Amino acid sequence: MTDTIFAKIVRREIPADIVYEDDEVLAFRDLNPQAPVHVLFIPKRAIATLNDATAGDAELLGKLLLAAAAYAKAQGFAQDGYRTVVNTNTHGGQTVFHIHVHLLAGRHMTWPPG
Ligand code: 5GP
Repeated sequence: MTDTIFAKIVRREIPADIVYEDDEVLAFRDLNPQAPVHVLFIPKRAIATLNDATAGDAELLGKLLLAAAAYAKAQGFAQDGYRTVVNTNTHGGQTVFHIHVHLLAGRHMTWPPG
């Protein structure tokens, strides 16, 4: 497992604008936001990509999504909606190899994505 910038954020070695934390999940604002609200939900225990997740990670992956939904609801985006995204490897557009769920909210998203 190679270390990533997100592992450094978990260890508080580099700063981040953290908006949510529990024993297993950390969420912080994306450095380069693509929507008025753009938050990344990551497991503290690193998994590089969705390809590397196993059945034993099912609960942890579910917690990422539920944490994103809870944050979106708390911020008032439940009714209008929001987008959750997991990019995987090159064609998926993944650039940081510590699995993360993007939460994008605050504008009308388009489909298909670029
Ligand atoms: P990916 O392209 O892997 O799906 O998403 C990685 C995201 O991490 C990108 O949206 C990028 O802007 C964000 N990012 C990269 N480095 C940092 C950083 O050091 N701090 C924060 N807060 N976000 C970062």
